[in-house]
Parts: sequence; C-alpha cells; structure tokens
Amino acid sequence: MKKPLIQSRILQSELFNKHGFMAIFSTRRGGISPKPFNSLNFSTEVGDDPYNLQYNLLQLMRWSSLPTQPHQAKQVHDTHSLWCEGPGEYHNIPADILLSQHEDTPLAIRTADCLPIMLADVQRGIIAAVHAGWKGTANQIVKVAVDEMLANGCTAENIIASFGPCIEACCFEVNLPIANQLYKTCDLPLPLIQPLRADLKEINQHQLLDIGVLNEHIEIISGCTHCQPELYFSHRRDQFDAGRHLSIVAKHTLI
Ligand SMILES: [Zn+2]
Repeated sequence: MKKPLIQSRILQSELFNKHGFMAIFSTRRGGISPKPFNSLNFSTEVGDDPYNLQYNLLQLMRWSSLPTQPHQAKQVHDTHSLWCEGPGEYHNIPADILLSQHEDTPLAIRTADCLPIMLADVQRGIIAAVHAGWKGTANQIVKVAVDEMLANGCTAENIIASFGPCIEACCFEVNLPIANQLYKTCDLPLPLIQPLRADLKEINQHQLLDIGVLNEHIEIISGCTHCQPELYFSHRRDQFDAGRHLSIVAKHTLI
C-alpha cells in the first residue's frame, strides 16, 4: 500500500536503488504549502511560511526513510563544492555541488527548472548532488563534480548518474549566445530548430560521456517542469511564485 503513495509524490531512481543507493526527486504534490507554492515547496526564499517548509521536509524524510534531514547549501549558480559529514543542516555558504563519503549523510539541492543531477561511485561510496542550471551547465558543473570525485579515489567507470525533472527541450527557448555557451561544452551540434531551444539533459549527458562515465550508468528520468504545472514548479512559467523541488541522494536504499 505504501509504495504507490510514495511514487505519486516523489520520483525514485531505479538505477541508484539497484546499486544500494537512494536518489529521489520530489514533485509539487503531497505538502501543505498554500497557493502559489502548493504544495510540496522547499524554498525558504519565496515567501512561504517556515512552518510549511519544516512540515514538508519532515513528510519527505518519512516517505524516504531518511535518518536525518539532508544537507543543503546556498545555491548561487556557480561551481563551488562542499563536502558534508554527519547529521544534515543548512549551510549558509555558496555551494552548487554537495559531496559526501559517509553513510547517513543525505545531500539535497533545490530546483524549479534547473537540472538536478545525483551521482554515486558504487565502489568508493562517494555521493554528490549537483545543481545544473544553464549557467552551471555552461560551466560544466557536472564535470567539476566528477573531477572532485576522481581526485578522491573514484573511477569514472564506477560512477552512476541520475537526472531528475527539469525544463526540457520542448520549452527551454534560449538565444544564440546562450545556446553557443551550452553546446560548445560537448560534442553536440547546435540544434537546427526555430525558435532555438536547448536540451540540458542531453548536454549534461554528453559532458559525462566525455569524461568516461558509461552511457548505461546514466539514467534520465523524463519530465518537463515547464509544461506539467500539475506536477512541477517552474520558475520560467511562474516567476517569483514558483516553489522549489528537493532532490536527495544518500547511501542507503529506499524501503
Ligand atoms: Zn516542456
């Protein structure tokens, strides 16, 4: 009875589960935040009541059997990283990459249209949560995260990656300078479509392939935040009224 309830509110990575890790992506369903943040909002910066956020977080922890709240940091669309240890807390320092090599140290990032990328080295046991918006993608943030993992004993062939919902190519119109910045980071050609649109998932997938992550170790969960308003928040669609999803990676499996 429990599993369908969980799956209607959060998306779960089967790839991570198979390898003894957990990666989940919240939808906007199942929380108590009122309109326009209805209902499973996780942003402290949009004007929602802190009580609602705390309640939503406790709900998500219960659904995913988390032993502690996840670590979070101040996201600034840069490529700074932060290593985390111990019970989760909010770090009021800039970091768009969180890493850990410890059990019971869940890591989380908040997104509306940006791409949440969860990483894990299945042998070394290091996990990472990456906030890849268009700026992060242009700065190859997922490569920065993998480089940090490789510098700490990971190997590219052992790394698994899961991409959660984001604004997809159907809706992500960009101008030519931004498209150029994005597509020059990988071996993909500029798309021949008008209006010009970018595919954050495909670009990040190719950035990972470039550094040796295996294609069969990259799981892309489909879902466009912009054109599914009943399921997702979207900053481009709702501007300052947009809530935020929470995506979490941890070294345990979802029961
Ligand atoms: Zn769309």
